[in-house]
Amino acid sequence: MISIVIPIYNEEENIEHLYSRLTAAGPSWEEDYEVVLVDDGSVDRSLSMMLELVEKDERIKVVKLSRNFGHQQAITAGLRKASGDCAILMDGDLQDPPEELPRFLKKWREGYHVVYAVRTKRKEFILKRMAYSIFYRLLASMSNINIPLDSGDFCLIDRRVVDVLNDDFTENIRFVRGLRAYVGFKQIGVKYERAERSAGEVKYTLKQLMRLAMDGLLDFSFVPLRLASFLGIATAFISLGFGLFHIIQMLTGKELFGFTSAVDAGMTSMAIAGFFIGGMILLVLGIIGEYIGRIYFEVKRRPAFVIEDFYTNSKIIS
Ligand code: UDP
Ligand code: MG
Repeated sequence: MISIVIPIYNEEENIEHLYSRLTAAGPSWEEDYEVVLVDDGSVDRSLSMMLELVEKDERIKVVKLSRNFGHQQAITAGLRKASGDCAILMDGDLQDPPEELPRFLKKWREGYHVVYAVRTKRKEFILKRMAYSIFYRLLASMSNINIPLDSGDFCLIDRRVVDVLNDDFTENIRFVRGLRAYVGFKQIGVKYERAERSAGEVKYTLKQLMRLAMDGLLDFSFVPLRLASFLGIATAFISLGFGLFHIIQMLTGKELFGFTSAVDAGMTSMAIAGFFIGGMILLVLGIIGEYIGRIYFEVKRRPAFVIEDFYTNSKIIS
């Protein structure tokens, strides 16, 4: 049996279509399946529509979170409740087509533990595409794990890896695609064309997207912390250069390379230097603050999400 985990936040326009696409594609998977829909605190008709599906189809299960916790937490909650031999993560807006799953399952049956989807084409606004592209390349160059380029959360994860993610990764901040890369095992990418959102608006706000990007960059890398050392060394060398320049000028009484000393040039250069150093110190403090905020969040060990209810069709499932 396989589990399909789908986070849902205000997707009332998509649920019927999602259900019919899943049921139509189901036979091609050649496995029994369950669909674990995670309601991430929807305020529209999503939950009641999902509960109707639970009534009519015993394969559908619904995890209701007690409020909106965000996409990554919703996926994490779904993985906890998935009971299949593997779990497939996909979005509720049909950007990840269920018709692609036979290719994932084929790799799984060949013995791969993680089959992740790699987007060949994005059908989104060009600026967003560029931002994504820069982000993934920055992430790959900064992080200490091998995060595949252009792969989102759409993937298949074998039961063994699901168990490891559920039980051994106790951290609360979850950048799922990063953890998935970190966990290792036998992994392979499968190319696919990411579809357009089937209906409705994007549910990720810019703020959420920025936070996701920060989580990705900071949770898998210490490089930003090292920025302080690099900036410090660079500034030390620059000031040493200026110092030498000034001393030589004083001793020889000549203009070097046609320049007068920066210090002699007056208040403007002093002010610029002051602002520059101040700016760099604040930047570095901000970066340290980001890490401290994360440490604070983690050490409190507050639950990262709360499951209010888990609905299954009790006629069939005990
Ligand atoms: N989603 C969620 N909680 C949120 C935001 C989004 O569960 O706070 C779900 C949403 O319903 C969708 C998936 O996460 O199934 C991806 O969201 P969206 O399509 O808005 O973002 P995209 O990844 O396409 O930019
Ligand atoms: Mg989407």
